[in-house]
Amino acid sequence: MGFWHTGYLEFHDEADLSYTYQSQQPIYHCQHCDLHFDSMDDLRRHRFESHPYLRPQLFVRGVELGATPFRVTRLAKPSEFVVERCTNASFNGKPTKPEEIPKLLSKVNNDRVTVKLTNDGPPAVFELVFKIAEEQHIKGVEASFVRFTNRKELSVKALEGFIKECKAFNTADTYYSGICDYLYGVMSRERRPDSRIPYAQYPERFNQAADALMDYNRPLAHIVRSLVAFHFNHFENASIFSPSGRLHMAAIRFDTILKGGQWDKKNTPAKKLSNVPEDLLTDHETLRILRWIELPLSELATEAGNISALVKRDITEFDRLKLNILLTEAYTANGNFLKARNIARELITNPKTSGWAERSLIRLPGKE
Ligand SMILES: [Zn+2]
Repeated sequence: MGFWHTGYLEFHDEADLSYTYQSQQPIYHCQHCDLHFDSMDDLRRHRFESHPYLRPQLFVRGVELGATPFRVTRLAKPSEFVVERCTNASFNGKPTKPEEIPKLLSKVNNDRVTVKLTNDGPPAVFELVFKIAEEQHIKGVEASFVRFTNRKELSVKALEGFIKECKAFNTADTYYSGICDYLYGVMSRERRPDSRIPYAQYPERFNQAADALMDYNRPLAHIVRSLVAFHFNHFENASIFSPSGRLHMAAIRFDTILKGGQWDKKNTPAKKLSNVPEDLLTDHETLRILRWIELPLSELATEAGNISALVKRDITEFDRLKLNILLTEAYTANGNFLKARNIARELITNPKTSGWAERSLIRLPGKE
């Protein structure tokens, strides 16, 4: 439960943040579909075979750059920048050979860079903001974060206090501002009276947080990105970034059933992990969803009434989708097949849930 709620165990120092975290191999996500790959080469091959657009491309550590400026926060080798489909290039307005671009980018430490790539078609322009975070600044932000969470208060005033403490760690400003964006988003999502951001804007804050934290290979950054991915129903991404706690298991279970797997098969959650850092940052609605998705079906069956009550409240469509999946499974498990069919029929129109809804309708007794 979020640090702003009661009932969690305290963290004592920044080392606790890596409690269950194990550094993972990088995973290369396709920015155009849901697939991901173990190597940059595999991603590039897929990219050109499956999405044959002609526009030139720039990849940083396997991430294909788009319209949003990419923030580079860690030193990068020339091999971590890849330029594709380009015959001419410029670096901050200066004409350059395309093959020189990775080397030039790897030398930037603290600057804003514009890379323009052209081929026969319209040019592609990419913005990169380099601000390499010093290790001691990263650690300073994490120590401040631990002190902040131990005060158990989420408010604009408390966040401003955290920001004030972090100001000294200026090379890691994207790190703490990403964490703050997420928490401002949570405040607006929980409709806190002192939230300065309208409810409708919380998704924007969540996206800003995920963008800001993209290049930080730190447990805290992974947790926030994972919570954001889970919220937006990107379950596979959520499972990749999260440590091996409740969120990880929940993301795997949603991903498994949406892809045709069975609820209880293979991924029965192990013993509940408590006092993991992700608990510090999980909002109330998400927490309720996490508690339901981790149940065995026989226990979920008894929760249908509670899930149904939450679905009827004024909640975001992202959570409504998760809850409707849970509710269908609960009704199926408790024998309320008609209600299960009704929800599954509604979810058949959503591309994310259409396959799962079709399979549910086939296995449910009754006729269409
Ligand atoms: Zn793809």
